[in-house]
Amino acid sequence: MILVTGGSGLVGKHLKEVLPDAVYISSRDFDLMDINRVDDMMDFFKPKVVVHLAARVGNLIDNMTYPVEYLEQNVIMASNVLRKCHEYNTDRVIAMLSTCIYPDVVKKYPMVEEDLFNGPPPPTNFSYGIAKRCIATQIDSYVKQYKKKWSYLIPCNLYGEHDKYGEHHSHFVSALIKKIYESDEVLSLWGTGKPLRQFMYATDLARVIKYVIDNDINDNFNVAPDYVYTIKEIAEIGVKACDKEHLKLEFDKNKPDGQFRKDVDSSKLLNILEDFEFTPLGDGIRRVYDKFSQRYNK
Ligand code: NAP
Repeated sequence: MILVTGGSGLVGKHLKEVLPDAVYISSRDFDLMDINRVDDMMDFFKPKVVVHLAARVGNLIDNMTYPVEYLEQNVIMASNVLRKCHEYNTDRVIAMLSTCIYPDVVKKYPMVEEDLFNGPPPPTNFSYGIAKRCIATQIDSYVKQYKKKWSYLIPCNLYGEHDKYGEHHSHFVSALIKKIYESDEVLSLWGTGKPLRQFMYATDLARVIKYVIDNDINDNFNVAPDYVYTIKEIAEIGVKACDKEHLKLEFDKNKPDGQFRKDVDSSKLLNILEDFEFTPLGDGIRRVYDKFSQRYNK
């Protein structure tokens, strides 16, 4: 059987739509910070495959306010899960890293998988970055020492119907969709609009995870669309997709831009999953907007 940790999160809910037969676990079922509860979980399910999605995830402000939690929770949860997967002889483990954990600056963009350890992660999410790099190292070590078929994927920032819209959580595209919905005349955005960003519809990541399981793939690779846009272009695509092209875009240049670019290369993924097609940004935004409008109207 397939067990998915973090089953109540954004990725978990999207994965459930494409992989309904797996078991989806949340913190209410088993607190992964407690190794005894992880043991209970593994003893009860004895899964052949574990997809480890559970993590402390949040936006820049949350990362900067709670670096201890970002480091400890991400390291401890993954470490508990991986140790127990070893003890219970779990065949396959697929864990999630994130493209935010790549070096702050590299010589050449887009970044490739080999860049992962070529410099410190951005100072704004340093703890998260180091924690996720520990997970990569722990998996690489099990593969090396015990010849496990375990691996990790490195997804870029996501958006989807199941994203949360709370202060500490939502990423740019989800926040943009909410703003488009709420705005009548002006859409006001932070910074210059010039930084480049890669955003992926969460169902695309779910489809990749399913493919990796179904085809017994144990490579580690980036999961990000083969397109990159400026913040301004994303906003333009967003207003068009939501039929609100009359909104005037305004950029508050007194607010920070964040990193100029952090896009990653998707060639390895496209070699493994031949013919994989990413959801165009406008289509994904429209789907989320429709769902958001329904929820909001209620
Ligand atoms: P999310 O929506 O914040 O969900 C986090 C999940 O982790 C929830 O199911 C939560 O359960 C669970 N969890 C947290 N603490 C736990 C604990 N102590 N014990 C058991 N479960 C616990 O996260 P997500 O966006 O789906 O992210 C999934 C994975 O993808 C993460 O590894 C993340 O780093 C990675 N990723 C996400 C993005 C993105 O843009 N969202 C981008 C790249 C990579 P409760 O609901 O019970 O709290």
